[in-house]
Amino acid sequence: MTNVAETIVDAVYVVAILVFILGLKAMSSPATARRGIVFAGLAMLLAVAVTFLSPHLTNFLWIVIGVALGGGAGFYWARVVKMTAMPQMVAVFNGMGGGAAAAIAGVELLGSLHGVTAYLSVAGAIIGSISISGSVIAFLKLQGWMPSKAIVLPARQVVNFAALALALGFGIYAVGWLHAGYLALFFLFLVLYGVLLTLPIGGADMPVVISLFNALTGIAVGLDGFALVNGPLGDAGYAMVIAGVLVGAAGSLLTALMARAMNRSVGNVFFGAFGAQEETGGGPAGSLKAIDAADAAVLMAYAGEVVIVPGYGLAVAQAQQKVKELADLLEAKGVTVKFAIHPVAGRMPGHMNVLLAEAGISYDKLFDRDEINAEFPSVDVALVIGANDVVNPAARRKGSPLEGMPILDVDKAKNVIVIKRGQGRGFAGIENELFYGDNCRMLYGDAQSAVAQLVQALKQG
Ligand code: NDP
Repeated sequence: MTNVAETIVDAVYVVAILVFILGLKAMSSPATARRGIVFAGLAMLLAVAVTFLSPHLTNFLWIVIGVALGGGAGFYWARVVKMTAMPQMVAVFNGMGGGAAAAIAGVELLGSLHGVTAYLSVAGAIIGSISISGSVIAFLKLQGWMPSKAIVLPARQVVNFAALALALGFGIYAVGWLHAGYLALFFLFLVLYGVLLTLPIGGADMPVVISLFNALTGIAVGLDGFALVNGPLGDAGYAMVIAGVLVGAAGSLLTALMARAMNRSVGNVFFGAFGAQEETGGGPAGSLKAIDAADAAVLMAYAGEVVIVPGYGLAVAQAQQKVKELADLLEAKGVTVKFAIHPVAGRMPGHMNVLLAEAGISYDKLFDRDEINAEFPSVDVALVIGANDVVNPAARRKGSPLEGMPILDVDKAKNVIVIKRGQGRGFAGIENELFYGDNCRMLYGDAQSAVAQLVQALKQG
C-alpha cells in the first residue's frame, strides 16, 4: 500500500512538473499569459494536494492550519488588491517564498544534517533570508512607505561585509554544534544583511532588484528541496527542486533582461548605490507650457504619425480603454498610431503590455525601445501618458540617478504632449527636462479623464 501511494505521488509530481513547464511557456506571450498563470496555479495545487497522500506525512492538523491561513490570506489579498498595488504584492509574495525556504532550512539544520545536505541547507537559509528581508524593503519602497531613492548609510560596504561575515560565522557554529541560539543569530544577521543590501538601491533600479529576489527565492527553494530529498519526505523534495529550479531559472533570465533594460550589470545595481545623488543646480531651464484638450486633439488629428508612450500614470488611472478609443479614432482619421513600450515602464515587468492587451490593442502596434527610437525625429506627435522616468533625458547625463538607462527618445519628436496631473516627479524622484522643452506641451489631468477629453474633442472635430 505504501509503495502504491508513493508511486501515485511520484506520478502526480511528474504531471505537475510538466504542467508547470507548459504554464511558463504560455507566460512568454501576453496572448497566452493568462492561460499560463492558470496552468501554473493548477500545477501547484496538484503538487500540494498529492503530498497529502504521502505515507510519510505527519502533523496533518498543523499543515492544514498553515495552508488555510496562508492560502486564505493570499486569496483574500489577491482579490482585493488594486492593479496598481500589484507590484508590491508580488514583492511580498516573493519574499514569503524566500522566508519559507529559510524556515525550512532552519528546521533542517536543527535536525542532525551532515555533509553536503547541511551545506545545501545553509545555502538555502542564506539566500532565502536575504530574499525575504530585501523583498520587504522593496515592498516598502514600492508602497511609498519609504523613500524610493537610494538610502546610503556611512561606511556602507564595511558594515554590510561585517553583517555578512558575522552571519556566516554564527552559521558555522550553529551547524557544527547544532546550537539553536547560534542559528537564531545566523538568521538575524542574514536578515540584517538583506536590508542593508537593498536600502542603497535607488528608484529606477527596483525592477532588477525585484526580479533578482524572485530568482533567489526559487534557488533557495531548490536547495532546500535537495536537502529534503535525503529525508523521509524525499519525494516532496523532488517537487521543490523542480519548482525552485524553474523559478530560479526564469527569474535569473528576467533579472538579466531588466539589467539590460537599465544598461547596468546586476553587481552595479547592488553595489553602485545609483540614485543616491541629490540633484544639484536650479533644475531645468525654461517653463512648463500647458495645452488644452481641444488644441491637443487638433494637433494629433492633423498628424501623419502619433506615438503613444504609456507609463505608470496610465496604470494608476486605468486609462487603457480610453486610450484604445483614442487610437481607433485617430486611425479612422488616417493617422498612423504606434505605441512605444519601455521595458521598465510602470511597476512590473511587462506592465504596459498587459494593460494594453487588456484593452484589446493589437500587439503589432506595440514597439519596443530599440525598434522605435530611431523614428522619433520624424514623429509628428509623441503623446506621453503618465510616463516620466522612462522619457527623462537626465538619463543621458553623467551623475544623474538615472545615468546610463536607455530612455525612449521622446524629446526628439516634432511635438510632445504630456498627460499628467501636476508637477509630480517619476519613481526616481528627479526633475524631467523633457517637460520644459520648446516642443513640449502639458495636458494636465488624470490620465483617464484627459484622454476622455481628447476622445470627445476628436469626435466633435
Ligand atoms: P514614473 O513613475 O517615472 O512616472 C509616473 C508619472 O505618472 C508621474 O510623474 C506622475 O506625475 C504621473 N501620474 C501618476 N498618476 C497619474 C494619473 N492618475 N494620471 C496621470 N498621470 C499620473 O513612471 P514610468 O512608467 O515613466 O517609469 C517607471 C519607473 O518605475 C522607473 O523608474 C522604473 O525603474 C520604476 N520601476 C519599474 C518597475 C517595473 O518592473 N516596471 C518596478 C519597480 C520600479 P503627476 O503626479 O504629476 O501626475
